[in-house]
Amino acid sequence: MTLKSLIRTIPHYPKEGVQFRDVTTLMKNPEGFRRAIDLLGERYRDQGIRIVAGIESRGFIVGAALAHHLGAGFVPIRKKGKLPAPVIHEDYELEYGLDRIEVHVDAIGKGERVLLVDDLIATGGTAEAALKLIGTLGGVVVETAFLVDLPDLGGRRRLEALGHKVFTLTEFE
Ligand code: 5GP
Repeated sequence: MTLKSLIRTIPHYPKEGVQFRDVTTLMKNPEGFRRAIDLLGERYRDQGIRIVAGIESRGFIVGAALAHHLGAGFVPIRKKGKLPAPVIHEDYELEYGLDRIEVHVDAIGKGERVLLVDDLIATGGTAEAALKLIGTLGGVVVETAFLVDLPDLGGRRRLEALGHKVFTLTEFE
């Protein structure tokens, strides 16, 4: 059993022509989910990570499990209007129009070592916006980690060009 084989592909979702990589089938598999979190946990053990920041919503699932594994705290990076206390925001481009993500202003302290996680990196636009938020708060991003890379969409290259490190467990062409 490979992690990749546990990820289901949904053709034409959410729209015609898109192959959606559905990680819920990996997450519901007891051995698969444990293996994914263990692989990330082994990589980031002893790296002094204080905060795992996860991007809404599937990044919460990976990020919370990994934070627990590492003995780190968890910080949610959320879509607009969801967080209760004062936030900073970052807008980023979607195919049509803009979207916004937010983080609490007091979520990360200056110099704290942060690991950013999400389920999947495609164009890298969401992760880039999240990295800006963490940087604005003074967090030090150790690496960005994803279950799935879609290399054809260029997200890894985009983040690496900005000087960030990217780690992924699987990729789909
Ligand atoms: P990006 O900003 O890198 O273009 O898109 C990545 C974001 O969109 C991530 O938050 C990810 O959860 C979501 N996303 C885009 N395409 C897919 C997909 O095929 N499968 C999953 N699970 N998420 C996707």
